[in-house]
Amino acid sequence: MNASITFEDGQLRVPDRPIVPFIAGDGIGPEVWDATRQAVDAAVRDAYDGQREIAWTELLAGERAHQETGSWLPDETLTGIADHLVALKGPLTTPVAGGIRSLNVTLRRELDLYANVRPVRWFPGLPSPLRHPEQVSAVIFRENTEDVYAGYEVPAHSSEGDTLRSMLREAFGWELTADTGIGIKPVSEHASKRLVRAALRYAQERQRSRVTLVHKGNIMKYTEGAFRDWGWEVVREEFADQAVTWEDCDGEPGDRILVLDRIADAMFQDILLNPDQHQVIATTNLNGDYLSDALAAQIGGIGVSPGANLNDEEGRGLYEAVHGTAPDIAGQDLANPTATMFSAEMLLRRIGWGEAADIIESAVERTVAAGVVTGDLAARVQGTRAVGTREFTDAVLGRIG
Ligand code: ATP
Repeated sequence: MNASITFEDGQLRVPDRPIVPFIAGDGIGPEVWDATRQAVDAAVRDAYDGQREIAWTELLAGERAHQETGSWLPDETLTGIADHLVALKGPLTTPVAGGIRSLNVTLRRELDLYANVRPVRWFPGLPSPLRHPEQVSAVIFRENTEDVYAGYEVPAHSSEGDTLRSMLREAFGWELTADTGIGIKPVSEHASKRLVRAALRYAQERQRSRVTLVHKGNIMKYTEGAFRDWGWEVVREEFADQAVTWEDCDGEPGDRILVLDRIADAMFQDILLNPDQHQVIATTNLNGDYLSDALAAQIGGIGVSPGANLNDEEGRGLYEAVHGTAPDIAGQDLANPTATMFSAEMLLRRIGWGEAADIIESAVERTVAAGVVTGDLAARVQGTRAVGTREFTDAVLGRIG
């Protein structure tokens, strides 16, 4: 019987036929969703001999929701995700008008999905500018709720600008010329700590031996520097038996997780020169934005980059590819479904169906290694011929079971 996943005592309880909502999405969304559903259903069947099955249920958002219901993000979609805890989401077109800045941001805010999680891992067949791409295997935990994305900006030549500049002059004696725009960046203790906590918990669960805190604390002491200090507090106060900072152990962590910290600019050097030093990366929102694109470029780009937006304190997770709607290739059988397949693989691991996740991962990897790739990768790998979304999917399905 189909049943809901529940969250009790910090654990997901998953029935054999869990109801999992999906949003097919706009642009290339329906094509990559269709491919992913086939791969997931086949992998689950193969892993559990038909004893388990995902009971997919569709929720609407984006253009299709607007056409069918008049709303870009119907309430039932939000409550459907909240009630069923985990869901798979396709890319959504952001409405030009309608009072919503971004549907993705609205979903993350309404569901308090505070950690954006992006694994980046190279495997044979993926193009990479690195000489040793096999050293890249990291998971980025990007804070999802604050930093400049939740900040405030005023333009230089505006009455708001005049007001803020005169407040700053009166309160702090800070003189700014009348042609100065101002941006405010909030970073809080609770948001920083829960993000670092989630990264450490993940490292523990997945047996990763290193976590790197990335920040620009040498320049922004009370936002980025505070993120690092609060992160260290979490390590020392909540994970004392399981993790230790480099400072406290001088690089000799024993069997505890080693917590490194890196200034953001040094981190960009490190991911090129020493990518194997970093396994789980915890960082503020803007750093995470830059870093995840840079890392994605090292392993084949956005066509293969999965993601999740999580609130692991409440057991919620929305799994989605990093890429957008790609309107330039939509409906033409050109899209690479790998990023969505890998997002579904993350979902399967989260619900404890690791055997099915392994099957999808291995089938996609063997397909790419055999030189069967979509145009986004074929253009960058010598000697490969581009296949369409459907042919690629059939090749993956042919390697399941
Ligand atoms: P949006 O406005 O929804 O973010 P976009 O086109 O601006 O859409 P992306 O969807 O991220 O941004 O696409 C950027 C580029 O990468 C496009 O040229 C697109 O064709 C390509 N691309 C994105 N996703 C894929 C994919 N899954 N397979 C192949 N190419 C892709």
